[in-house]
Amino acid sequence: MDVHAIEARWRERWQQSALYRTDFDTARRPFYNLMEFPYPSGEGLHVGHVYTYAGADTFGRLRRMQGYAVFQPMGFDAFGIHSENYALKVDRHPAELIPANIRRFRDEQLSRLGCAFDWSRSLSTTDPDYYRWTQWLFVQLFNAGLAYQAEAAVNWCPQDQTVLANEQVIDGRCERCDTLVVRRELRQWFFRITAYAERLLDFSAGEFPPEWIAAQRAWIGRSEGAEIDFRIVDQSAPLTVFTTRPDTLFGTTFLALAPEHPLVEAVTILEHRAAVAAYITTARNRPERERTIAADKSGVFSGAYARHPITNAAIPIWIADYVLPHGNAALMGVPAHDERDFAFAVRYNLPLLPVIAAANAELPYTAPAG
Ligand SMILES: [Zn+2]
Repeated sequence: MDVHAIEARWRERWQQSALYRTDFDTARRPFYNLMEFPYPSGEGLHVGHVYTYAGADTFGRLRRMQGYAVFQPMGFDAFGIHSENYALKVDRHPAELIPANIRRFRDEQLSRLGCAFDWSRSLSTTDPDYYRWTQWLFVQLFNAGLAYQAEAAVNWCPQDQTVLANEQVIDGRCERCDTLVVRRELRQWFFRITAYAERLLDFSAGEFPPEWIAAQRAWIGRSEGAEIDFRIVDQSAPLTVFTTRPDTLFGTTFLALAPEHPLVEAVTILEHRAAVAAYITTARNRPERERTIAADKSGVFSGAYARHPITNAAIPIWIADYVLPHGNAALMGVPAHDERDFAFAVRYNLPLLPVIAAANAELPYTAPAG
C-alpha cells in the first residue's frame, strides 16, 4: 500500500471540493475553531506544533460531526524576533525569506497534516491588509490613554539584542542562546491592563486550572489595596508604599524598597552606600521570577528610618529584591501577617508584631526577635 500516494490523492480531492471552506452566509450553527499561528522561522514546524494542532483539529472535527459549520483558519505570525534572528543568521532579507518560509510551512508541512484548515482564508501578520488593523487598534488604545511609554527594568539578552519575558529566562540565561541575561532600564510601550484588572481577574466565566489562574493573577497584578505614606527621618520626600492589607499597618516592623526604586540612593546613609551599591548590582541581574519565589529572601539595610504614620515609631528602611520594580516598588513589612515578610524578618532578625487576633492570623506567631 502506497500511503504517500493515497494521502496525496485525498488531499487533492479535499482541496478541489473546497471541503473545509465555510460559507459564512448560509451557516446556521457557525463555530470558530482558532489555534495559535506558527512563526514561519527557518526551522520549520516541529512535533510540538503537531501536538497542539492535532488536539484542536480533532475538536473541530467533532463539532463538524455535531452539525456545526466549523471555520478553522491557519495563518502565520511572521513578525518578530524569530523571523529576524533567522534572517540575520542566513543573511537574507525578511521580505524574500518570509514568503518562502510560508510556502514551505503551508505546502510541505501544514497541508500534509490533513487538518481541516480553510486555506482560502489565510493570513500572514506581515500583510499590509492585516497589520493596518493592528495599527488602527493601537491608535484607538493610544487615544484612549491605554497605551503609554515608560522607563522600566527589563530582561535583556546582549546576544539577541532583545527584551525577554520572565518566562524566557531560564536560570538567569536566555532560553534561545543561553547567554547571561542582564537587567536594563529601557523606555518602552505598555498597555494599561490594570485599568481592567477587576474584569480580567474574574475567572467565573469558565473552568481554568489553578496554576493558570495564579499565573494570570501575577501578570495582571493586584488591584485592591491602599497607598500609605511614611515620612523618612531627616528627609522631606515621603515614601509611599502599596499594601493589600492596610489593616495590618500596626504590625509594620520594616519598609522594603525594590533595588530599582528611585529613592534608594537618596535614603541610603553614607556608611551603608558601598554595601547597598554592591547589593543592587547583583539584585538587578536576577530574573524577577527567581526574586519572588526564592526561599531565601535577601536584602540590605539602608541605614535610614521612616516614622510610622500613627505610632511615630522608627521603622528601618531595607532594600530587598523580592520587592519588584512595578507600581510603588515599595512595601511595608508585616512579618506577623505575610509569608514573604516573615521569611525576610527571620533572616535579618527583624521584630514580629502580631496585630490581628490569632484566629485570623495567617502564620503561627513568634515573640518579637529584637
Ligand atoms: Zn539570547
